[in-house]
Amino acid sequence: MTPGPTQVPERALARLGQQVIHHRTEEFRSLFAEVLEGLKHVFQTRHDVVVLTSSGTGAMEAAVANVVPRGGKAIVLESGKFSERWRLICERFGIEVVRYEVPWGEPFDPAEVARLLDVHRDAVAVYTTLSESSTGVGHDIEAIGRAVGPSGKLLVVDAISGAGVMECRTDAWGIDLLVVGSQKALMIPPGLAFVAVSPAAWRQIESVAQRPVFYFDLLAYRKSLAAPEPPYTPAISLVRALAETLRTICSEGIEQVWVRARTLARATRAAIEALGLQLVAKRPADGLTAVYFPPGLDGPKFLRRVESRFGVKLAGGQGPLKGRAFRIAHMGLLDELDIVSAIAAIELVLHEMGYPVTLGAGVAAASRVFADSSHDSVSSSRG
Ligand SMILES: *Cc1c(COP(=O)(O)O)cnc(C)c1O
Repeated sequence: MTPGPTQVPERALARLGQQVIHHRTEEFRSLFAEVLEGLKHVFQTRHDVVVLTSSGTGAMEAAVANVVPRGGKAIVLESGKFSERWRLICERFGIEVVRYEVPWGEPFDPAEVARLLDVHRDAVAVYTTLSESSTGVGHDIEAIGRAVGPSGKLLVVDAISGAGVMECRTDAWGIDLLVVGSQKALMIPPGLAFVAVSPAAWRQIESVAQRPVFYFDLLAYRKSLAAPEPPYTPAISLVRALAETLRTICSEGIEQVWVRARTLARATRAAIEALGLQLVAKRPADGLTAVYFPPGLDGPKFLRRVESRFGVKLAGGQGPLKGRAFRIAHMGLLDELDIVSAIAAIELVLHEMGYPVTLGAGVAAASRVFADSSHDSVSSSRG
């Protein structure tokens, strides 16, 4: 139950075991066309989506190096381990960074973004994050989009742990580049990354004469979208597995996936609060929940015990939250019973380690949320 890599559905696993086909074939092109359509539905865009063979960070790098020239300016919104990465990538490419930092666990203020855009009129783009996986904060990208829109600058969003699990409307929210990875809500192994690119973003990319990229040259990917195929040998087996998970997501409908995840997130938070534990995020995301360890508890030992006794893998904290917090994901294949059993495991191990819990209190709180939201057609992904 970590925020990536997530469990891969059986049907997609079976595809990974099949003989590799050639990619310059009608068979692959039609599969690839289907995958692109599925991704557009998940990302809620009518514009181009390119598929890269890399982890999510490769797509972040592409969304920097193609877009802002060396010596150009970017506004980076920083609130945790992953949004910090935007700044580190920008700095590596010699881009001047205007940094808007909020404490870990807090959301960005869209009014501050508007103010910075007003002061830094020469900035090319705003870099931000939908779901900050280190803190479990879900940023208000819709409101940030409204702040960026009038400036005419590009809005670039890392949605690696957000897209496919929480509301994300690329076109309607004015997102110019949306970056996503394969191993989170899209439920396939790591190795593919995606960038949705708006027409305004393409115009900006075309205008950057010296783009320090070869493999990650997005214009090369756009050119071969006509086929459609990728310019270089794709991770064929992963594309096949992705076609399988996208079929499942598209047949349920992405909005219904969002509703289901929101209920899992609410139930998780209700359980955590019922156990007297504290959430890290002031504005929580739907794909994962970050929780402070209670004072005095040996966090790493707690996580090891939850895993060894119950086979439940939770994620630890990152950066300043290392040893201070843990994270539970509720994206992809996970359903209500997975949440209930993880909460039960957490209760039992807390109890075993001497932390005062009322056994069943977290489970009851989660079940109450499920009972009250059964009319939202929260059916089990197994059922
Ligand atoms: C997982 C994640 C990344 C990093 O992706 P990799 O696939 O490890 O390169 C970046 N941003 C966010 C928000 C993530 O959750």
